[in-house]
Amino acid sequence: MISVFGSANMDLVAYVDKAPALGETVTGRAFRTIPGGKGANQAIAAARAGAEVIFVGAVGDDAFGPAMRATLEEAGVDVSHLRAIPGPSGIAHIVVDDRGGNSIIVVPGANGTIEGPTEAEAAAIGRTDAVLLQLELPMEAVVAAAVSAGGAEVVLTPAPARPLPAELLDAVDLIVPNEHEAAAITGRRDPAEALAALLERVPEAVITLGAEGALYGARGAEPVRVPAFAVEAVDTTAAGDTFVGALAVARGEGRPPAEALRFASAAAALSVQREGASTSMPARESIDAFLAA
Ligand code: ADP
Repeated sequence: MISVFGSANMDLVAYVDKAPALGETVTGRAFRTIPGGKGANQAIAAARAGAEVIFVGAVGDDAFGPAMRATLEEAGVDVSHLRAIPGPSGIAHIVVDDRGGNSIIVVPGANGTIEGPTEAEAAAIGRTDAVLLQLELPMEAVVAAAVSAGGAEVVLTPAPARPLPAELLDAVDLIVPNEHEAAAITGRRDPAEALAALLERVPEAVITLGAEGALYGARGAEPVRVPAFAVEAVDTTAAGDTFVGALAVARGEGRPPAEALRFASAAAALSVQREGASTSMPARESIDAFLAA
């Protein structure tokens, strides 16, 4: 079983040919509201990839709150620890261009009110195999969840990139930055050097490299490089979240690192071929079929 302690945002997505520069107005091709947020995304990705998942987080009392709760429930995620609090839900304002690139503004809303897991939430997290954390909640809340995770393996996606307190890193078992976040954390642009620097602080790390694949390392072991699958990307929103959710599922099933990375890469490759965040995450049957093809 996997727990996710993190954000739920409604993604407000505008599809454009070319993203506007500051001060410029462009006409978009389409607009959609899609439940997202790194926390909810990872929860949905893990549930679709075949795990039992509980999501701990908060939505507001606006129209977006019930919509996000319903989306998590439909994906099979346990929402009994999802708080509904007065005020706006978190939103992410996303621009997707015709090459599948994206830029994102996050307004935290309800996510910003979370100070840490309650006793009951921490107990629920502690009963799971792994807790997935990201940085769209206040840092104090992320630290509190990491240090109270009990028997759960702590998996951190350090995004959006922020300085990481030592207390947090001390509690992390596996960190999964993309190459930009890895460079921001370590000051090393070269992925192999960044990986070595990360492993000085945490026992295991994966650096995702977009269409170039992913690089895994554990202390005392040779790094493992896994290529991405060659697919036509239409929207890379939540590729990383899909990757982490699926990776946690494969690890939970006891798969060795190279195999777990291949499973995660397949899930992410399927997701970049579809638009949106929660709308783009593949079901277990699709991942297995893709890997068998
Ligand atoms: P993030 O979405 O966090 O920026 P990345 O862009 O590194 O993360 O993507 C995460 C993973 O998704 C990659 O390691 C890769 O497996 C997969 N992926 C991303 N972009 C592509 C692509 N264009 N084609 C195939 N797989 C991709």
